Amino acid sequence: MATVTLRDIIKIYGEFVAIKGVDLDIEDGTFVVLVGPSGCGKSTILRMIAGLETISHGELKIDGKLVNDLPSRDRGISMVFQSYALYPHMSVSDNLGFGLRISGVPKDEIARRRGEAAKMLGLDPYMDRRPSQLSGGQRQRVAIGRAMVREPKVFLFDEPLSNLDAKLRNQTRIEIKRLQRQLGATVVFVTHDQVEAMTLADKIVVLNDGRVAQIGTPLEVFERPANIFVAGFMGAPSMNMLKAEVGPGNTIRAAGLDVPVPADRFSLPAQGTAVTLGIRPEDIVPEGHGTRPELGADFSAEVSFAEMLGNESLLFAELGGTEIVARMQHPRALEPNQQVRFRIDGARVHVFDNESQNSLL
Ligand code: ATP
Repeated sequence: MATVTLRDIIKIYGEFVAIKGVDLDIEDGTFVVLVGPSGCGKSTILRMIAGLETISHGELKIDGKLVNDLPSRDRGISMVFQSYALYPHMSVSDNLGFGLRISGVPKDEIARRRGEAAKMLGLDPYMDRRPSQLSGGQRQRVAIGRAMVREPKVFLFDEPLSNLDAKLRNQTRIEIKRLQRQLGATVVFVTHDQVEAMTLADKIVVLNDGRVAQIGTPLEVFERPANIFVAGFMGAPSMNMLKAEVGPGNTIRAAGLDVPVPADRFSLPAQGTAVTLGIRPEDIVPEGHGTRPELGADFSAEVSFAEMLGNESLLFAELGGTEIVARMQHPRALEPNQQVRFRIDGARVHVFDNESQNSLL
């Protein structure tokens, strides 16, 4: 397998700068997920690595070798697309072997690689079928198999699960992860689904408007988002954001509350400085539900709407003129417009600088 390195990569379409200087170090054998909202540049970066898009500026290296101008087929990469891109008139077996055959790989070697891929992906029973005779999940497995038989240095996946229904998406996600571990493969995977990103990635690259907003392990980007954008993008429902200011002692003043925060956690500016207070829905704890946070601030609010999700509910309420959402574990039924007492977990809140938008950690 291989490393992939991007240095100050820029992509310009006509007058439009789509990628605005991206640096990335992808280590050998790691699963890297590019995630971000629609139009942030995920596919463009993947397609530049694949050689399907030219690079306007910067250096792209695969295994230390500059490949900016190397044709796609010589880069040692295999790409799996959302649309599967299978040959409709060929059997599964021929779909798996075709690329190797036209590259002049000997017959017995093709048979070996095809056999291995079919076994790993459970495709043996379908080898004589056409793609139209397969389910979406089976088609995607053939597409993955076709990438595998090329024994690439790097696998590239462009939203490969988005055409599958929820259950199949979960299953295929687990299969892809297991396969990557088994092969020790270097993978770059594009998705706009943050659950996919969290569950698959060794490293997540959060992109915003053609730039890297944060690179880190799933836990790092979730627990220690570097800025307001990442904090708002990762996690569902989104983190609550409140207008606030630095209060007396180690507190953040928001919506008339002084929320105590751990003394050693933040480097807070002077009292009175305007900041943004970020609180995840699970860190606004309804009284009597879950463990009562030791460090915190209490408030009462009328729950305007409760969304029942089975094992939990989302409670919508207003705090200081802002609509907030709290997560209630093991829910019980609520009366319409019921008053609920909540406690904000001060040990888990986030504080952001208003100007730079960066976390004050
Ligand atoms: P999505 O999740 O919607 O697929 P994305 O993050 O993959 O989005 P890209 O497809 O990489 O986004 O596009 C990044 C930006 O570049 C978008 O603003 C898009 O409109 C623009 N763009 C992409 N391809 C071209 C092109 N061929 N010509 C001009 N602009 C383009």
